[in-house]
Amino acid sequence: MLTHSKSAKSDGPLTEALAHSGLRLTPQRQQVHEVLREKMDHPTADQVFMRAKHKMPEISMATVYNCLDALVTCGLVRQVTLDRGATRYCPNMQDHSHFYCDECGSVYDILQTISPEDADIKLPRGFRLKNIETNLHGLCPDCAAKAK
Ligand SMILES: [Zn+2]
Ligand SMILES: [Zn+2]
Repeated sequence: MLTHSKSAKSDGPLTEALAHSGLRLTPQRQQVHEVLREKMDHPTADQVFMRAKHKMPEISMATVYNCLDALVTCGLVRQVTLDRGATRYCPNMQDHSHFYCDECGSVYDILQTISPEDADIKLPRGFRLKNIETNLHGLCPDCAAKAK
């Protein structure tokens, strides 16, 4: 489910994607992108900042926000918004749904989406459905085991 490609630093796509949006690859943007790919647990900007700071002590929160914005703009990272709480960041650009553990708050990628064709949703006249963003709620394996 979690594709962890620990391939050698392939910054070609990163540079390309940034350039495509008229942005430059900076060491900070590279670092923030790396942090997101290292552990795909959908961290908040605060968490990204804490992790990036480990390797780049001089990085500021404002810079992290700026980097996240840049990565979202060029389509390398997407924002994930929970019903409540801070925005999280996901570097998985494949179509996927998010599973939220109601107990511990973890967010997991589920590589399955509901296509508008499959979903039997009756919309009022005039509406046209293009895609469905599903948020699944429940318990993660750890919390489910504890809840027994
Ligand atoms: Zn959990
Ligand atoms: Zn995700």
